[in-house]
Amino acid sequence: MFENLSERLGGVFDRLTKQGALTDADVATALREVRVALLEADVSLGVARDFVKAVQDKATGQGVTKSVTPGQQVVKIVHDELVSVLRGEGPADALKIDNPPATMLMVGLQGSGKTTTTAKLAKRLHEKQGKRVLLASLDTNRPAAMEQLAILGLQIGVDSLPIVKGETAVQIAKRAKTQAAMGGYDVLMLDTAGRLHIDEVLMDEVQAVRDIAQPRETLLVVDGLTGQDAVNVATEFDGKVGITGVVLTRMDGDGRGGAALSMRAVTGKPIRFVGLGEKMDALEAFEPERVAGRILG
Ligand code: GDP
Repeated sequence: MFENLSERLGGVFDRLTKQGALTDADVATALREVRVALLEADVSLGVARDFVKAVQDKATGQGVTKSVTPGQQVVKIVHDELVSVLRGEGPADALKIDNPPATMLMVGLQGSGKTTTTAKLAKRLHEKQGKRVLLASLDTNRPAAMEQLAILGLQIGVDSLPIVKGETAVQIAKRAKTQAAMGGYDVLMLDTAGRLHIDEVLMDEVQAVRDIAQPRETLLVVDGLTGQDAVNVATEFDGKVGITGVVLTRMDGDGRGGAALSMRAVTGKPIRFVGLGEKMDALEAFEPERVAGRILG
């Protein structure tokens, strides 16, 4: 990642080496490059602007132009700031799922990868942490989605709540809670219904489910390739339902992942995991360093 940014800022720093000193104008030029890199990675304008301003202030504060290796120092400040915004506080994947059964609510728009992510995360909790997980789909509008989760459950060796036709999402959530408690499960994962767009019906249903389910974690699954839209979706869900974290899917795609920076800066919510493919083990804990490298391209 240092190489990427250094390359990008190469012109500026080449000149600097020849001059043997860095002027404020050189720093400004370098930061314009950083801004372009961020915008190209689909970081929102406001976030890119604030980010560059923060770096500018640090560069001035640390007197980089007078330092022995000013170019490298600017690169380091950019890198550290990026990682620090992305990281937020605490380890990304530390879910609050002690005190069994802990309920996790999975929310998001249809097509974001919510069901796939629910199963991937169940597999991870089951295999890496030895948790007994119960899956339940609340997507009463799409029987196929309910079956999809049950099939994935079978694939990964995790139980799912038997499907009973005609129940409402709230009724399923209640039954799932009871089953999780009686069956001695550690974690209950509720895969809520998604819709193509955020609307009142969707939010009302998710709120009703949340009130019944009392989740310890409410994870929003969003498509990492959708840039600013992903951030808008997160802001809406957080305002209406309250989310505890985000999973960015399709980070295996061509996108540079700027949504991650905007997401963290705008919503303040931690990105906990990233989806890296369709397979059941294509889910990783979010690593700020790696995403920072991609964003700076
Ligand atoms: P839902 O409607 O939000 O539940 O979405 P699904 O879980 O059904 O996923 C929609 C499609 O996206 C499926 O074909 C998934 O295999 C695919 N998908 C989910 N997550 C990822 C990911 O991280 N990377 C890629 N490449 N595809 C994904």
